[in-house]
Amino acid sequence: MALPTTVIAPSEVRLSHEEVLRYSRHLIMPEVGIEGQKKLKAASILLIGTGGLGSPTSMYLSAAGIGTIGLVDYDVVDFTNLQRQIIHGTKDIGRSKLESAEETLADLNPFVKLVKYNVPLTSENALDILKDYDIVIDGTDNFPTRYLVNDACVMLGKLNVYGSIFRFEGQVSVFGHEEGPCYRCLFPEPPPPGLVPSCAEGGVLGILPGTIGTLQATEAIKLILGIGQPLVGRLLLYDALAMTFDTMKIRKNPKCPVCSEHPTLTELIDYEQFCGVPAHDRSSFDNGTDVKPIPAVGVKALKERVAGGEKLTILDVREPHEWAISKIEGSVFIPKGEVMNHLNELPRDETLMVLCRTGVRSGDVVRWLQDAGFTNAINVSGGINAWAKQIDQSLPVY
Ligand SMILES: [Zn+2]
Repeated sequence: MALPTTVIAPSEVRLSHEEVLRYSRHLIMPEVGIEGQKKLKAASILLIGTGGLGSPTSMYLSAAGIGTIGLVDYDVVDFTNLQRQIIHGTKDIGRSKLESAEETLADLNPFVKLVKYNVPLTSENALDILKDYDIVIDGTDNFPTRYLVNDACVMLGKLNVYGSIFRFEGQVSVFGHEEGPCYRCLFPEPPPPGLVPSCAEGGVLGILPGTIGTLQATEAIKLILGIGQPLVGRLLLYDALAMTFDTMKIRKNPKCPVCSEHPTLTELIDYEQFCGVPAHDRSSFDNGTDVKPIPAVGVKALKERVAGGEKLTILDVREPHEWAISKIEGSVFIPKGEVMNHLNELPRDETLMVLCRTGVRSGDVVRWLQDAGFTNAINVSGGINAWAKQIDQSLPVY
């Protein structure tokens, strides 16, 4: 395979004495050297997200001397982010992730030019934001943004270093190269809404994005230097529990709607509609917002209805280890995956309040119950965490 060299260092790029000293461990390797370091300085990389994956990618790429790094994020640092998003610290809670990231990165390497985009990436702004960069690194945790990044990269001819994580497993590949497939070649259709849980619902080992993000940054550096074998046409599968790395050959789909010779998709679409889910990292649901059009109540209304003597059942659909952390006394416990096997045990003649950690999984269960003919199921927005924050502070928030 021809080595993809994405950046030709312009001859006017110079390294100061200070930069030469800073990057000396790069410069003494013939595979990098002065010319390679100049290529890194001339390069621009856009990072989508400054969360779990964005932390190690942005930190290592800054330290490595990438000339321009763009950061896209509109979230604020949340207490539960700190278990894995090591670019942010305890003092940063409640602060804009971009500002917090900028402070860390500027301290790591003041030679890097940082460009901040404090907006969600959308079909309206994606092409405009991506067009100025050589490489895009996808650090998102939701399907709509992943398809959006893929399609925009293919349309603009940008390399897309993809990474995804869940619990103990991760994947890495390089999409958008003319010799390899794109994300859509692999996954032409998004999974049905609710089938693949996000990290916010299913959890993630805090160190996992460290491993996967570091691999993404490694691929980006190789692509810029034009050395080694990039993960073009290969999908890397990492299993932290087994401690194995496997690579799978992946091929271009000759009928791919975006990257084939005769694409049918030539402009960006409505990705939330395409995927049937909102394009937010699921942590945004921790505020108790429920964007799905299903019947829902907030925890205060639930409390009032219980206090008012209404006969109702609270169905808790979390997992046993979560039930051990917190529960509402008197609630019925059936994990989400078991609910459909226990329909006979659920009342149809009184309101069924479905509860999980933040209201996402319970929303899926309400939808299933509706499909099974239950007209009495209502989602508890914000879940038990909202209950713990607003109603019963003796319970922990997790
Ligand atoms: Zn494709």
